[in-house]
Amino acid sequence: MSAHPARTDPVGRPRLGDVLLRLGLIDHQHLAAALEARLATGGSTRLGRVVLDLGLVTDTELARALAVLHVLPLVELDPGSVDPDAARALPREVAERLVAVGFAWRGNRLAVAVADPGDSGDLVELRTRSGAEGLEVHIAPEAQILATLDAVWGAAAPGPAVRPVEAAQDDAETVLLVDRLLIDAVHARATELTVDPQRDGLHVRIRVDGVLRHLMTLPLTGAGAIVDWLKAIADLDLDETRMPQQGRAVALVQGDSVALHVATLPTVLGERVLVRLRPTSRSLPSLDSLGLSGSQQQVLLDTVGRRHGLVLAVGPVGSGRTHTLHAVLAGGIDPERSIVTLEDPVEAEIPGALQVPVDPTIGLTYAHALEAALRQRPDVVLVGDLGDRDTAPIAVRAAATDQLVLTSMLAVDASDALTRLVRLGVPASQVAAAVGLVLSQRLVRTPCPDCAVPHEPDPYLLASLWVTDPRGTWVEAHGCLACSGTGYRGRIAVVELLEIGPEVRQALVETDDEGAVRRAARAAGTRSMREQAVELARRGGTTLDEIVRAVPDDPDHSS
Ligand SMILES: [Zn+2]
Repeated sequence: MSAHPARTDPVGRPRLGDVLLRLGLIDHQHLAAALEARLATGGSTRLGRVVLDLGLVTDTELARALAVLHVLPLVELDPGSVDPDAARALPREVAERLVAVGFAWRGNRLAVAVADPGDSGDLVELRTRSGAEGLEVHIAPEAQILATLDAVWGAAAPGPAVRPVEAAQDDAETVLLVDRLLIDAVHARATELTVDPQRDGLHVRIRVDGVLRHLMTLPLTGAGAIVDWLKAIADLDLDETRMPQQGRAVALVQGDSVALHVATLPTVLGERVLVRLRPTSRSLPSLDSLGLSGSQQQVLLDTVGRRHGLVLAVGPVGSGRTHTLHAVLAGGIDPERSIVTLEDPVEAEIPGALQVPVDPTIGLTYAHALEAALRQRPDVVLVGDLGDRDTAPIAVRAAATDQLVLTSMLAVDASDALTRLVRLGVPASQVAAAVGLVLSQRLVRTPCPDCAVPHEPDPYLLASLWVTDPRGTWVEAHGCLACSGTGYRGRIAVVELLEIGPEVRQALVETDDEGAVRRAARAAGTRSMREQAVELARRGGTTLDEIVRAVPDDPDHSS
């Protein structure tokens, strides 16, 4: 029974339909008709647009409802009192597409009126394209905004015609735009920036706290220049557009040095560019950031204090395995021991360690690097990834006798990882003898401190998470400008710690059945990722919805 109530919106956030009902602007029957009409458009049209087009509310009524919904001030726009400089800060095409107009400058901040603030991507685009350092967002009726735009730009001026390629963007403009994209991405704490050619334009998206967010859609006319500039930053071959390429660079973004990893993928519509961003000044995480209880932390310290053994961090892509390994290395290993790390790429500087960048493109694979490193007789080896047939046997053999090996694997959970090691050709008896501890993990987003509020959890949701005791300081994420409407800022790991004891060893040696290994682990008293996450939510460290999204159900609950 892993089901939970179906939801279409972030939980707890009132919807426009609710607000329209509550303000008495619409009745249930009309709302149902509007929702149905919206569904007929594939759900892509905003409800505000639909109720307006159906004539169910006036644009003034809709503005009032949106102001209530988003907790934003309502403003009356009089074209005569609008600062033309502010109004022209946005290119006409953007202003008309997003139905927005600037009406005053307040220092470097632009006071802007929008008909519907929509998603955070629109607001980011408004800020980026206006050049403002910040926005003061207001709501105004659509007709007032359009009238103001007409007054400022002239009603007869040409519409958003496509500009010829040559005039679309000169180099300086492209550089400026790409710089702004990178600055915005870094400000938003994004780990990825993607530029995707689609039929309707170049889609720019960022990944923040593990979740993709649409930043803006740029006209295709300037696409080539933007892609070229991103490629140029990483020193890629600009003439090569039919083969994938990748390269690295370090950029200085507003005084902070940021490591960029740029990868291109040729598609039929043009090249897609993925830029991974990582601040290089990042300090090593602490053991406390793993959220383990005192006794769990002691188990971890005891294990890594031994002379040999394997400590394995497991989880899917982007589950923070490297973070965990670094936290263990920084907080659990005696700095007197000799440490070698093998990583692809080296993500953080570790004081006192010999760090080897693994690079398969030049033939330096993990297996190669590990063999070479072991010949140096280090006390501790960190192997960034164990997931291949060549590396796993060497690492396990070393951990069984001579070295403490910290490593990670792509796997759903501990039992998945252990049985996979056996399938990678490592004898089960060796796995059982070498592995001391497995840390399975997921990252959950932490509520935004500016808009999180205390919250009584839905009893049905609690029950679906197998929570019997409702006490706690649960919070709910609403979304505000500080968190771009997502309700979250930052992430934290939830870690399930499995100490490999006699029962798990026996299950491993006797059978390669994952279920048997898992049952043995549960019997050994391991607190699951779900249980860890629920305790975190009970302290207000995340939300129940985030757990449902990011942390898998316990297998013995769902089976
Ligand atoms: Zn917030």
